[in-house]
Amino acid sequence: MAEKVSQKMDSEKIERVIEKLRNVYIDAKPGLNYKNPFELLISTILSAQCTDARVNKVTVVLFEKARTPQEISLMSESELSDIIKSCGLYRMKSKNILATCNLLVYDYDGNVPKTRIELMKLPGVGRKTANVVLSHAFGKPAIAVDTHVQRVSSRIGLSDSAIPQKTEMQLMEKIEEKDWGDAHLWLINHGRKICTARKPKCDICPINKDCLYFNNQLNAK
Ligand code: SF4
Repeated sequence: MAEKVSQKMDSEKIERVIEKLRNVYIDAKPGLNYKNPFELLISTILSAQCTDARVNKVTVVLFEKARTPQEISLMSESELSDIIKSCGLYRMKSKNILATCNLLVYDYDGNVPKTRIELMKLPGVGRKTANVVLSHAFGKPAIAVDTHVQRVSSRIGLSDSAIPQKTEMQLMEKIEEKDWGDAHLWLINHGRKICTARKPKCDICPINKDCLYFNNQLNAK
């Protein structure tokens, strides 16, 4: 759940925050390993409530055995479940992955579609997953709002909503379109390393002077 912030950020603060995050996380890369849009799509479906490191271990095995929608669609649900079990929610994920692969084979000639509307029609693909695929596989402007992006954006004051889609819209208003895909990585990395869910490391945070959560905490003392 996002903490409430009491003020809106002015544009100078927003610019400073974005620049600092850009400088600190300039080398940030997606945590999931993939060689093509299809591998990123499957990896992102698997990453729900699972770490990227775990997904990467599982996809090494999965893509060794079957690396196209056609090949995965020929697997049985139990065969696929056995491979992806350690990612959690494996029954639902197996069903979704098989259904998605079937749709890709029959409706898209084995290719991953390049629009959000089409991606979100695939089983197991919500707005966040669609945005990850659009931005990182196809280089299209999109900001994926996961739990880290939601929490960090709310704390800093870049968003005043706890609803991911509203946060996405608010981030798109504040961040230049060319930076949308990277901003997702900056915010995720900041959430994993500094602005952690429990006990954020505000004392060493490079953007603490401009962070509404930090300033609200100071004012409350
Ligand atoms: S100052 Fe604290 S709450 Fe604000 S972004 Fe940094 S770590 Fe997160």
